[in-house]
Amino acid sequence: MATSLDIAHKPASAPLSGAEPARAKQNILGLSRDELGEALGAFGMPEREIKMRVGQLWNAIYNRGLIDFADMTTLSKDLRAKLGAAFTVARPEIVTEQKSVDGTRKWLLRLVSDKPGVPGPEVEAVYIPEEGRGTLCISSQIGCTLTCTFCHTGTQTLVRNLTAGEIVGQLLVARDALGEWPNSGRNSDDRLVTNIVMMGMGEPLYNFENVRDALDIVSDGEGLSLSKRRITLSTSGVVPMIERAGNEIGSMLAISLHGVTDEVRNKLVPLNKKYPIAELLDACRNYPGVSNARRITFEYVMLKGVNDSIADAKELVRLLKGIPAKINLIPFNPWPGSPYECSDWTTIEKFADVVNRAGYASPVRTPRGRDIMAACGQLKSETVKARASERFKTQADDQSKAL
Ligand code: SAH
Ligand code: SF4
Repeated sequence: MATSLDIAHKPASAPLSGAEPARAKQNILGLSRDELGEALGAFGMPEREIKMRVGQLWNAIYNRGLIDFADMTTLSKDLRAKLGAAFTVARPEIVTEQKSVDGTRKWLLRLVSDKPGVPGPEVEAVYIPEEGRGTLCISSQIGCTLTCTFCHTGTQTLVRNLTAGEIVGQLLVARDALGEWPNSGRNSDDRLVTNIVMMGMGEPLYNFENVRDALDIVSDGEGLSLSKRRITLSTSGVVPMIERAGNEIGSMLAISLHGVTDEVRNKLVPLNKKYPIAELLDACRNYPGVSNARRITFEYVMLKGVNDSIADAKELVRLLKGIPAKINLIPFNPWPGSPYECSDWTTIEKFADVVNRAGYASPVRTPRGRDIMAACGQLKSETVKARASERFKTQADDQSKAL
């Protein structure tokens, strides 16, 4: 259908006088339907057309996985060219891919740069294939401001929050790499990414709006269509945001508990000093929508001699009484310089026995992708590693000059 766009007078999202420099194209990835409509309105599209165009673009971007406006053949050729001149749907690019012996795939992704000539920052996403399901672990921030002492990401100071587009972009790129778009010839019922966990780098509840908006896009039935029940948001315990997460995000919730006394948890998850265990568990009891069919997952990393005694296991069971809960025991994944060791296997089994006898099923999570540093808590982006090695090189240069 022809369109009556008039971009000669209203290019990109703001009117330009002849003296002003040309504007960079606006990336529409991650905009909500309303925001996308506003962007099209600002671009000069007549009001009566907007709803239909938003639907067509939504389908092209999130259902068919298209990147190039030229391929969006449901739009007229003329409109495709005009949209392509004003907007992009750029997503992160894969810098490296590592494949574990167990099939886990870790991608180092470079985000789209917002400064010309400066490469965008990097984050990691991990895909974990299992029998009958495939889980994509997504990052919410570059680095993390929290400093959990057993977590590698916690040693990386925050660079910044990811935008909604950068969060959704991780799923799009994973589908590219896995060949999971409808035109790949795969049966669309046979999905590769069936579940999402917000368990990559960062604390999702410290980037609330962007995570919420991204997950709304991911679960939109006319696009990526992953139900909120297949999305788990993991938090280290940002108590004041937990109720909002239930009301406004409505995903499954996982809590990084890791300690059963405030004394131990203060050391492992320093945020506990602000929001101690009792307050955290109260917030869990009141999590909107929690029920036996929608249990909260409690993650518990097994650290040798720190939190792995039988008394700890019994206290864990006691603390969780009355909360519809699942327990995930996670063998600690070491990283270079980490100050802890993983509990012995027999200790983990004894701990698991106590938990099992209290009625919690199959709680030990097998570490995946350890050989490629893709397991929980091992993620740390190359940007920071590279910066560290650059610093080291400069120091070494300075030292050699001083000699
Ligand atoms: N910031 C959020 C989500 C990202 S961390 C949170 O803390 O919940 C994802 C999960 O990996 C958390 O349960 C975290 O406690 C766990 N984790 C971090 N470092 C780990 C390590 N070295 N070994 C095993 N699990 C780890
Ligand atoms: Fe941040 Fe989660 Fe790692 Fe803690 S465990 S430092 S909250 S990413």
